[in-house]
Amino acid sequence: MSFARDSKEEVTRIKVDTQCCLKAELGAYIFINGSMNLGKKIYLELNSENAAVARRMFSLLKEVFEVEAQIVVRQKTRLKKNKVYNLRIEGREKILKILQSIGLIKEGIEGLMLNENINQEVIENECCKRSFLRGAYLASGSMTDPDLSYHLEIITEYKSKGRDLVRIMDFFDLKPGLMEKKNGYIVYIKGSEEISTFLNVIGAHKALLDFENVRVLKGMRNKINRLVNCETANLQKTVVASLRQVENIDIIDRAIGISNLPPDLKEIAIKRVNYPEKTLKELGEELNPPLGKSGVNHRIRKLERMAKKIKKEI
Ligand SMILES: [Zn+2]
Repeated sequence: MSFARDSKEEVTRIKVDTQCCLKAELGAYIFINGSMNLGKKIYLELNSENAAVARRMFSLLKEVFEVEAQIVVRQKTRLKKNKVYNLRIEGREKILKILQSIGLIKEGIEGLMLNENINQEVIENECCKRSFLRGAYLASGSMTDPDLSYHLEIITEYKSKGRDLVRIMDFFDLKPGLMEKKNGYIVYIKGSEEISTFLNVIGAHKALLDFENVRVLKGMRNKINRLVNCETANLQKTVVASLRQVENIDIIDRAIGISNLPPDLKEIAIKRVNYPEKTLKELGEELNPPLGKSGVNHRIRKLERMAKKIKKEI
């Protein structure tokens, strides 16, 4: 299972009825993925390696602009089996109408110019901001399987476009970052909570549930690991203390002999040497009659003082 692919295919099935949102989603796709050919033949091209995504854009173009794109399927490279679906729109008038409508073209001194920023009108409503992010994710988004790490990103060619995306993500409190890469800029989200919110914002509810399941499982695993680590640390503390006690007993044994100790100290000294891994409480249970932790501690301290005295005399 690939989270990126599944989440994309899920959102391509979302029904959108409002014109403003249809335009915002398609606009985002063209904004990030669209390329223009201004040669002898003018055309606008959108591409995707995902058939469901290409289908979605094809029907958005038809629904919003009554434009029927040509579809060309080609093999990515001879080695790779991936197919790339190209949607091509030809005709100057058609293209201008689309680009103007989603604010990707503006009047410049020398005529019409491509706009490298999002037209704010297109994303004025919150519903459209969501749709825009959905379109951007479909255009060039991906996410790492949450089992591995928490990372979601959208690649853009230009920094200005990356900044625009960051601004929209900020609106939803997604704490995005922007970073330069060799093939452009990536806008990324690292926090698990924020990725969860992003999936919710773009309407990928099934992906959101799957993501949350992994997150909960991971959280539980971390908790267990923490407990294990904690127990190991406690065990180490016991062992270190115990080794020191055994050392003290050894000093006493060499100086005066364990058998010459008073009975209560002799008993605990022998038990300590025989059971170095036991805690004071467990050691007390070995005594006859059993003794509580503080009682054991009291005797151990006595041995400690005795060993200290001997060390001083030596
Ligand atoms: Zn809308």
